[in-house]
Amino acid sequence: MKVQTTVQPVFVSRKVSQDLKVREIKPQIVNQQRVVYQFQCDLCDAGYVGYTRGHLHTRVDGHKRKASSIYKHYHEQHSEVPKDLLKRFSILKSFDCLVNEMLFIRDLKPTLNVQSDSIRAKVFV
Ligand SMILES: [Zn+2]
Repeated sequence: MKVQTTVQPVFVSRKVSQDLKVREIKPQIVNQQRVVYQFQCDLCDAGYVGYTRGHLHTRVDGHKRKASSIYKHYHEQHSEVPKDLLKRFSILKSFDCLVNEMLFIRDLKPTLNVQSDSIRAKVFV
């Protein structure tokens, strides 16, 4: 303050991230939350698209219960629900807004985002 200079920290995020070898760790399919998922029957053309705010594996467990249309489908059409039901599910869209936000910040470099935003994006992406 005495020399009337604003001290600004210098970020070396690129180098830091290289040293730390930060990589994108893709969450396993079952650990993703807030997803639109697709079910495809392995024995016929029946399909199902749903949305869950929780974990997909929790939702798949729900589909093993009698109230589920997928459970009903297997029992009515194929006699029983397969044990590896999770394999019939895939994620169509993940609503991980924080990660999406970071990706856009990284790619678009919007001028109104402060530098710490893009650094956060570089660290996590
Ligand atoms: Zn089927």
